[in-house]
Amino acid sequence: MNAILEQLLKLQRLDIAIRTLGHDLQQIPKKSRIIDAKVSADREPFDKGLSEKESLEKERASLDQAIASLEEKERKLKLRMPEIRSNEEYSALLKEMDAAKKERERAEDQALKDGERLDELGKTLPELDQKYKESEARVAEERKALKSEADRLSAELLTLQKERQTLQGAIKAGWFNKYTHIAAQRNGLAVVAVRGGTCQGCFISVRPKLVQDLHYGEEVVFCEGCQRVLYLDDAAAKA
Ligand SMILES: [Zn+2]
Repeated sequence: MNAILEQLLKLQRLDIAIRTLGHDLQQIPKKSRIIDAKVSADREPFDKGLSEKESLEKERASLDQAIASLEEKERKLKLRMPEIRSNEEYSALLKEMDAAKKERERAEDQALKDGERLDELGKTLPELDQKYKESEARVAEERKALKSEADRLSAELLTLQKERQTLQGAIKAGWFNKYTHIAAQRNGLAVVAVRGGTCQGCFISVRPKLVQDLHYGEEVVFCEGCQRVLYLDDAAAKA
C-alpha cells in the first residue's frame, strides 16, 4: 500500500476511535443521572415521611401552646363568676366559657391525632431509611463501575490523542491538510475502500485504470465521484 495512503488511513482510524471515545464519554453524565434518579426515587418516601414528621411536631407544639392558653382563659373566666351580677352577664360568661372549652377540645383532639400519626411515623421512618440505605449501597457498586469506565475511556482517549499528534507530525503538511479538508466536507470520512470496483463512499464505479493504480500503490488515488482518497480493502486486494 502507498505509504501516504497508509498514514492517512491510520489517521482516519484514530479519528474515528477518538470520536467514538468522545461520544462514550459524553454518555457518562447521562448514566450517572440515571443512577441518581434511582436513588432519589428510593429516598423519596423517607424524605416525605421525615417532612411530615417535622410539620406534625411543629403543629403539635403550637397546639400544646394553644391548649395551655385556652386552659388559662377558662380558668380566668371561671374566676369572674363570683363577680357576676345579672343573668345576662352570667349567660354571656357561660357562652364564652363554653366556646373556650370547645376550642380547647378541638385542639386536644387534633393533638391526639397528630400524636398517633407521629407514633406511626416513628415505626415506618426507620424502615424507610433502611430501604433507602440498601438502595444506596446497591448503586454504590454501579457508581464505582461507572467511575472506572470514565477513567478508562479518558485514559484511552489521551493515548489516542497523543498517538494522533505523533502521526500528524510524521505526515507531510500538504497531505494532512488535504485529509482534514476532505474529512470536513465528507462527514469525517476522507479515506474509503474500493470494493468490487465501487467506491464505498459514494457508490460510484471506479475506473479500472484507477483500480490498477491502487494495486500498484505508487500514488494516492482519489475517487472521481466524491474526491475521497481510495484504498483497496483486504479482500479486494487479494482478489
Ligand atoms: Zn467516491
